[in-house]
Amino acid sequence: MPQFSYTAAMDSPNDTQWPPEQLDVKAFARDAAQLSGQAPLQEWERLSEASQPELSPPALKWHAQGELQVHTGAPDQVWLHLQVHAQMPLTCQRCLNPVLTPVDVDRSFRFVADEATAMALDDEAQEDLLVLSRTFNLLELVEDEVILATPLVPFHDVCPTPLPMAVADPLFADEAAQPAHPFAALAGLKVVKSQ
Ligand SMILES: [Zn+2]
Repeated sequence: MPQFSYTAAMDSPNDTQWPPEQLDVKAFARDAAQLSGQAPLQEWERLSEASQPELSPPALKWHAQGELQVHTGAPDQVWLHLQVHAQMPLTCQRCLNPVLTPVDVDRSFRFVADEATAMALDDEAQEDLLVLSRTFNLLELVEDEVILATPLVPFHDVCPTPLPMAVADPLFADEAAQPAHPFAALAGLKVVKSQ
């Protein structure tokens, strides 16, 4: 089984048989090839937008494995198994301090001939379907999956500082995001006046 290590995911991929930004998915599966790589979080454009710069997270690591499943009486199936491990620097929604949140992805994708086939199979298929390409951008998939797996409301297991106030609790996050009721400020004034 051929094994390829691709350690500088964001550099020019021309030195590998399996450029992760332009992957021939079917050939990758047929050869049962493997590809892995890592890159600092700030080099992933969309991930760095969502992160807190003051934390210095370790590099994001990913690993992909191709597989051609042979089924008698049916066309061969092209599969790609993907694992990603990242630590996303986010903002704790309880104490509002930075929090390094582990994000792990372990998913398998089946590639089908075209969009129409994917649509037709979508209801019955248990697996995730993608459209076959000879220039598939694996790094984009890695980034997509990390974004999907990133918690919307991250928080520390144990916050490092005392809670500033109850509204920072994630349970109240929706309420806090609402524009204040016009009378809320008025009510506040009343309280102050009566003191
Ligand atoms: Zn916290």
